[in-house]
Amino acid sequence: MTQATPDWHQLATQWRPRSQAVIDGELVDAVDGGTFPATSPRDGTTLVEVAAAQRADVDRAVAGARRAFESGVWSRTAPAQRRRVLLRLAELVEANADELALTVALEMGKPIRDARDIEVPALVKTLTWYAELADKLLDELPQTGPDALAMITREPVGVVGAIVPWNFPLTMAGWKLGPALAVGNSVVLKPAEQSPLSALRLGELALEAGLPDGVLNVVPGLGPDAGQALGRHDDVDVLAFTGSGEVGRELLRYAADSNLKRVYLELGGKTPNVVFSDAPDLAQAAATAAWGITFNQGEMCTAASRLLVQRDVHDEFVEQVIEAIDQRQVGDPLDEGTQIGPVVDGEQLQRVLGYVDVGRDEGAELRAGGARTLQDTGGTFVEPTVFTGVRPDMRIAQEEIFGPVLSVLPFEDVDDAVRIANGTVYGLAASVWTRDLATAHTAARAIRAGTVWVNCFEEGDLSVPFGGMKQSGTGRDKSLHAIDKFVDLKTTWIAL
Ligand code: NAD
Repeated sequence: MTQATPDWHQLATQWRPRSQAVIDGELVDAVDGGTFPATSPRDGTTLVEVAAAQRADVDRAVAGARRAFESGVWSRTAPAQRRRVLLRLAELVEANADELALTVALEMGKPIRDARDIEVPALVKTLTWYAELADKLLDELPQTGPDALAMITREPVGVVGAIVPWNFPLTMAGWKLGPALAVGNSVVLKPAEQSPLSALRLGELALEAGLPDGVLNVVPGLGPDAGQALGRHDDVDVLAFTGSGEVGRELLRYAADSNLKRVYLELGGKTPNVVFSDAPDLAQAAATAAWGITFNQGEMCTAASRLLVQRDVHDEFVEQVIEAIDQRQVGDPLDEGTQIGPVVDGEQLQRVLGYVDVGRDEGAELRAGGARTLQDTGGTFVEPTVFTGVRPDMRIAQEEIFGPVLSVLPFEDVDDAVRIANGTVYGLAASVWTRDLATAHTAARAIRAGTVWVNCFEEGDLSVPFGGMKQSGTGRDKSLHAIDKFVDLKTTWIAL
């Protein structure tokens, strides 16, 4: 990654956002000429008018993807060739890291340091990891009797529709594109309407990297328009989605109403961050709890939004967390010192503030934050917020807020902690802090979550799967297992 720190404000004056869809190797306007504004949560200004894809545009993109797939130019090329092209794309992303980071910061408000040091590197790592995998996958020859030879081979499914959210626009796109492209599929990517610009630039870089026309298409547009058209399309084989449960349900309906395409959902969470009084380092646990609910403005499916604290250290621990949260810097995402940017838009701001009212009405104690801030900037900033005295049945302990709002709940012992931790419809991630091996293993086993961290939070790398149990989703991103979503298994049985 780039070492020298650019002057981001200066760079922003020279920044030229892309606004056209990437369809079948070309940068194009919407068929009907329609656009929608890409608005910056930093100050409420319109960054650019973006092509608003409708069904006709999605039809073109899917047709291009299908044509490319059937031609074999990518799907049947040597895997080593796919590796080379995807590695070139990773290099181009890295070479344009500053511009991409700036784009993400402007379009969805991520603090520039996180955009540059986390978001863009995550895309580079993902593309590189799956590129390297492309020519190293092995198929299977199961044991058979002497009169037969059986082969189990993986075949790319065909056309993948990837619908992603705005909170990690490049990382989420990469988690879908990396494995889907590595095994030879064509993809139509529908970025969130709040963050289309980084995806459009990525689509352009993919062409520059030598991805054949039609293999990666990017259709910006509104969910109910472009997203729905993709979801209902009869020529899309798989939908890979990250977003809300509400839209996830819609996608399942689209599949049922159309061609029964496979649907993989990465949905929300209500991560329990469980702190036992024998945590190895309570100060570190407190700092992590503060980070875990404010990183990315709390707009994170794994946000550590429920802090469960063992009763004997509860009061002291909560003080430490509030102090650490107070020190986190809210500000302009283009300032290097900013740690918490604006939430993504006015609707999200109202949602977060609405939950603050809900928490108050439910009788929780508001201990920090709770209001809009930096209003004079025109940006959608909200103070990081802490509620204590939260009961497990309160809405602020049950529902995903997707903002920097922490609910603190006391617990007595490991059974109590596990019961509370498992007491929501979600099961994406959990964190457990204890020095005791038995407590750690008992809790890690009993908590129904796709990922359980012990004495850490939000750690991992591409080798491990990521995804949810219960209503947090189906299927897994990252790791070798992500490949499963984008292949069909074929059995060939040969009589000898
Ligand atoms: P969202 O569900 O509103 O939107 C996600 C995507 O779906 C966007 O591209 C949107 O345009 C599209 N969409 C909206 N309506 C649609 C429709 N009717 N048909 C087809 N597509 C439609 O979610 P969001 O607000 O962008 O993101 C926040 C959600 O994403 C949270 O619930 C969060 O937990 C979840 N998320 C999950 C993970 C994970 O890996 N589990 C990661 C990040 C975010």
